[in-house]
Amino acid sequence: MAESNAAVAELLRRYATALTLNSADRFKVRAYRRAAETIESLDDDVATLVARKRDLTSIPGVGKAISRTIEEIVRTGRFSLLDQALSKLEPEVLEIAARPALDPKKVLRVYKKLKINSLDQLRQRLDSGEVRELFGARMEYHIRRGLDDRPRMLLYEAEPLALRIEAHVRKIPGVTRVALAGSLRRKKDTVGDINFVVAGKSAASVFKAFSKYGAVKSAERRGKDQMSFRLSSGIGVTLTWSRPEEWGWQLILQTGSAAHLDDLRAHGTRRKIDLSAEGLSKKKIHASEEEQIYRSLRLHFIEPELREGRGEVEAGAARKLPSLVTLEDLKGDLHMHTTASDGANTIREMAEAAKTRGYQYIAITDHSQSLKITNGLSEKRLLQQIKNVDKVNTRLKGIFVLKSAEVDILEDGRLDYSNSVLKELDFTICSIHSRFGLNREQQTERILRAMDNPHFNILGHATGRLLLKREGYELDIDRIIEHAKQAGCHFEINSSPDRLDLSDEHARLAKEQGVKIAVNTDAHSIDELDFISAGINQARRAWLEPKDVLNTVSVAKLRKLFQR
Ligand SMILES: [Zn+2]
Ligand SMILES: [Zn+2]
Repeated sequence: MAESNAAVAELLRRYATALTLNSADRFKVRAYRRAAETIESLDDDVATLVARKRDLTSIPGVGKAISRTIEEIVRTGRFSLLDQALSKLEPEVLEIAARPALDPKKVLRVYKKLKINSLDQLRQRLDSGEVRELFGARMEYHIRRGLDDRPRMLLYEAEPLALRIEAHVRKIPGVTRVALAGSLRRKKDTVGDINFVVAGKSAASVFKAFSKYGAVKSAERRGKDQMSFRLSSGIGVTLTWSRPEEWGWQLILQTGSAAHLDDLRAHGTRRKIDLSAEGLSKKKIHASEEEQIYRSLRLHFIEPELREGRGEVEAGAARKLPSLVTLEDLKGDLHMHTTASDGANTIREMAEAAKTRGYQYIAITDHSQSLKITNGLSEKRLLQQIKNVDKVNTRLKGIFVLKSAEVDILEDGRLDYSNSVLKELDFTICSIHSRFGLNREQQTERILRAMDNPHFNILGHATGRLLLKREGYELDIDRIIEHAKQAGCHFEINSSPDRLDLSDEHARLAKEQGVKIAVNTDAHSIDELDFISAGINQARRAWLEPKDVLNTVSVAKLRKLFQR
């Protein structure tokens, strides 16, 4: 009996879920989930490793117990601990356990309240809107996602997975070129399928070799040169085979959104070029590189992040494409938390970590007093922290710490500190963390009123959305941008991978009105300073150039920009 990596991973995942339902220790649950992930991304077949009597504990995340489990699965096709765990469960719970993306505890809570006992009934209650009404949008999102056979994931989670898959494809004999395409290459904040363009010996040989990848659960041919695979985690991977001489054209086709490709074809028609592999070859346009094709169309090269059909083809023809902001343009990070509120590191630790990234400054923006759950700072504690920042600054070299706070916008639009305290800060980030239920009009008025306070500088995570978990509250974004412009306020793109708001579309609107945007991490630990790459992706999708971004300027210039 030789089980595939996908099958082993699925059993490990199922066991993790069963453990949760039997109220097992959550570290144990997490260990099994992590092992499932590792097994999926292994290049080697676990069955082969077991047959060769290799020590599985040398695989990261696989300890003695999990190693014995894997051996059992591979040798017998069974997993006795899983059978035991499942035998203790009621049938309705078993059904939930088969959906590893569902949090069984949450679902059972919903079952109890709605007096239902099957996923079918749950689906009905989702569609009738009852789940949302009783448990909120976040629960609705969770359940919809858990029931979805083709789940989306955050770009930030998909990127490392895509790199592992890419490394694997590269090793397939005969493969000469591999590139990421699709929404992942466009850096869309969430992605469904992961798309690759592959050049190699033949489509059939590449597809056949990839079918043996450990994480592959099923496969479906989509045409002569394309095949889609489903991994055991539910994630889809699509490979498109390209002949080397058509590489650039395939990359354009597989990267752009449908709207971008429509615009491109229309542009081609205007220039009497039929945009297809045959059409390009008829005009003797080399299709092997993207750059050549755009050039032949008399277009500036269009960065993948812009290929959404939002005017980029027109701008490319008029030589008016933006020079997109990059990570290297950033001089600092204006939103982060420390141990004083809900962060994990001290002011000094955050500053030192930021310095190693080449930043010239950071701002410490701990939570304000109303946000009790995060240990928000009272006015007295904030004044003390201001003194601490001064002290830290005298000891630091090469990096400067700005005094700030993430000030709650209260329900009536007041800020959470008195003006006499706010004026001691270099600037403020003002955010909504409560009363998400207000309607569009009320929420908009709340923010406009807050902006009228002369100490309001940057609107933090404008819509409060959590990608794949919770929709943001509704806002009249045009009015808010207009008001920010009049009042001299700014926005942020919050780089937390599940926030990323302002969204790309909203950030572009702000830019067009001349309102500047900070790209901030909202880091709660030194590790989370890494989130900045996600924020930069979103900024680029919003057409932002260095001049549109607040934290590309020096401290002295920042101070001027914060004057109202
Ligand atoms: Zn916040
Ligand atoms: Zn924050």
